[in-house]
Amino acid sequence: MDLSFTADEQAFAAEVREWLAANLADVPTFSSFDEEVAWGRAWQARLAADRWVGIHWPSEFGGRGASPVQVAIFNAEYARARAPQLINRVGLNLAGPTLLAHGTDEQKARWLAKILTAEEIWCQLFSEPGAGSDLASLTTRAVAVDDGWLLSGQKVWTSYAQYARWGICLARTDADAPKHSGISYLVVDMSADGIDVRPLTQITGEAEFNEVFLDDVFVPADHLVGDLNQGWAVANTTLAHERGTNFPFKEQVVHEVYLAELWGEAARAGKLDEPKVADQLAQAYVELAVLRLHNWRTLSRLAKGVEPGPESSWVKLAWTDLTQHLSEAALDVVDPASPLWGKWQRQWLWSKAASIAGGTSEIQRTIIGDRILGLPR
Ligand SMILES: Cc1cc2nc3c(=O)[nH]c(=O)nc-3n(C[C@H](O)[C@H](O)[C@H](O)COP(=O)(O)OP(=O)(O)OC[C@H]3O[C@@H](n4cnc5c(N)ncnc54)[C@H](O)[C@@H]3O)c2cc1C
Repeated sequence: MDLSFTADEQAFAAEVREWLAANLADVPTFSSFDEEVAWGRAWQARLAADRWVGIHWPSEFGGRGASPVQVAIFNAEYARARAPQLINRVGLNLAGPTLLAHGTDEQKARWLAKILTAEEIWCQLFSEPGAGSDLASLTTRAVAVDDGWLLSGQKVWTSYAQYARWGICLARTDADAPKHSGISYLVVDMSADGIDVRPLTQITGEAEFNEVFLDDVFVPADHLVGDLNQGWAVANTTLAHERGTNFPFKEQVVHEVYLAELWGEAARAGKLDEPKVADQLAQAYVELAVLRLHNWRTLSRLAKGVEPGPESSWVKLAWTDLTQHLSEAALDVVDPASPLWGKWQRQWLWSKAASIAGGTSEIQRTIIGDRILGLPR
């Protein structure tokens, strides 16, 4: 097997590296989450202006139709440049791929380009107070009216809702149908009347996610994605991308940076020979290498037009282990007097959410047992 890059691929890597060197200034320290989001939008717009966002998307929608190898090269260069993860993640990794797979031509033309530029931020209105792991028991209702629906209910844990222009929403459109039927997939205008977004503060001190109350919110008929009452199948596309591409792709980049940083910090502090630290860093290195290989596999599936399937549950578990193990290691490596300490403290606190967000680890193991291993229930 020849794993070396072709001359064209090397030229592509050089192009990415040069662009990042010319365009990425030092990422500032932010005094608030609002500031971080505003900076992230400007940075994503800058990247998108030169078509460096969603590079594997078709060129007619603002991508470059990039090959899996080019995406892997891009990710590696992006990580090497210590560039920050993109802000419009829900749009880019959840809504965008779902619209590409199930949207009408008009929906793609209306929404995709502004996802890439972060001009319009997206959020995911799936979870409810009584429907998380058992998502199909959701009770938010969309009642048919002239030209559309009136949407009422409550969503929770909605990341970035306070910044979002659009939300992908699951709602019950047939109350009498069995649980997984009668659900439709709607795009909700987050600036519409009847929407109340209330931020929830996490243990990191930031309010990344929110409660969202929906009271007779009008959703036009052409905001239905896929067929009426067939939203569960559309939602599975979103969830497979959330587990199989969102966390793993962005986090591979983030963790390449983190691991290099921790390794450097351990070397500076003379801790690389400490058995516990050496074991933790070696473990994280191996887990990152495994995640990278899985991401390659996912990319080659996407390049063949195959959507991510239940294997994305395994990829999400692998990412969860990596992020939690690396964050634990950081507390042994980084000295509380180091300028990096605050950042790692925050990362360690955030990593607790990794085994919950996007479906809990217990649920991923159930999916692997059921749908990959075919184990009896
Ligand atoms: C950082 C973060 C961001 C998020 N962002 C969003 C977002 O933007 N949009 C959105 O819609 N949601 C979002 N979520 C919500 C997330 O998808 C849910 O928290 C998750 O699906 C779990 O649902 P729940 O919180 O209702 O827990 P529950 O479903 O109530 O689960 C509670 C516990 O019971 C366990 N459990 C439940 N059922 C089973 C079972 N059948 N077998 C074994 N164990 C089980 C779970 O594993 C868990 O440990 C986010 C969550 C986090 C942490």
